Amino acid sequence: MFRVGLSGALIADQDQHWEGSNRHYVNDAYIRSVYGAGAAPLIIPVTDDRDVIDSILDVCGGIILTGGVDISPLAYGEEPIRGLGRLSPQRDEFELLLFRRALERSYPIFGVCRGMQLVNVALGGTLYQNIEDVPEFTIQHVQQACRQAVTHHVDIEDDSYLIKALGETCLVNSWHHQAIKDLAPGLRVTARSRDGLIEAVESDSPGMPPIVCVQWHPEELTSTVPGMAKLFRNFVVLCKDRTS
Ligand code: MN
Repeated sequence: MFRVGLSGALIADQDQHWEGSNRHYVNDAYIRSVYGAGAAPLIIPVTDDRDVIDSILDVCGGIILTGGVDISPLAYGEEPIRGLGRLSPQRDEFELLLFRRALERSYPIFGVCRGMQLVNVALGGTLYQNIEDVPEFTIQHVQQACRQAVTHHVDIEDDSYLIKALGETCLVNSWHHQAIKDLAPGLRVTARSRDGLIEAVESDSPGMPPIVCVQWHPEELTSTVPGMAKLFRNFVVLCKDRTS
């Protein structure tokens, strides 16, 4: 079965018998979305060992960079501001390495939420550390509704990978307090919310593998919004085309 790698995260167990022990995890919604797209998900543990990453990439056809905590602003040359959220330096180091190795090997990459921000930072772009501090972003991007609810529109660019699955406009969920500020070279913006915030980017350079990134959480919507399931199916097809 065709395999897709998913970047894992670390979480400290709260259970009394295991308190303080770390676990490597990926949310169930990603796992189910990859199953639904007809591929086998493979969780990539947090590691700084390039050989471990390479040997896992050997058996995958593409990777999904998953959502999570904020990226350290030191990675894009800024000091942390008061509105910055929680960080995971270990995960930053892991995913920057994973991204670079996947890029060098021309693997298709699907970035979700933090995953999109990571791609932008890895390629030399910057982030708004806290969009609450930016007056023009007036839409509520940390929705006060369950993750499966769709709460704001995004408008999608012509000739984009996204438009094939989602059409010109769609409703998305929103669970982010950061966003792309300066777009990295090699990327193009393919969707924005109506306050102008960047909600999706794709690779736009002949030397690059296909990279598709969204700021929302499509994995939470695959059973309710057909276009979101299609996004995962199209990604698996992209990975298969690349390896065949
Ligand atoms: Mn949003």
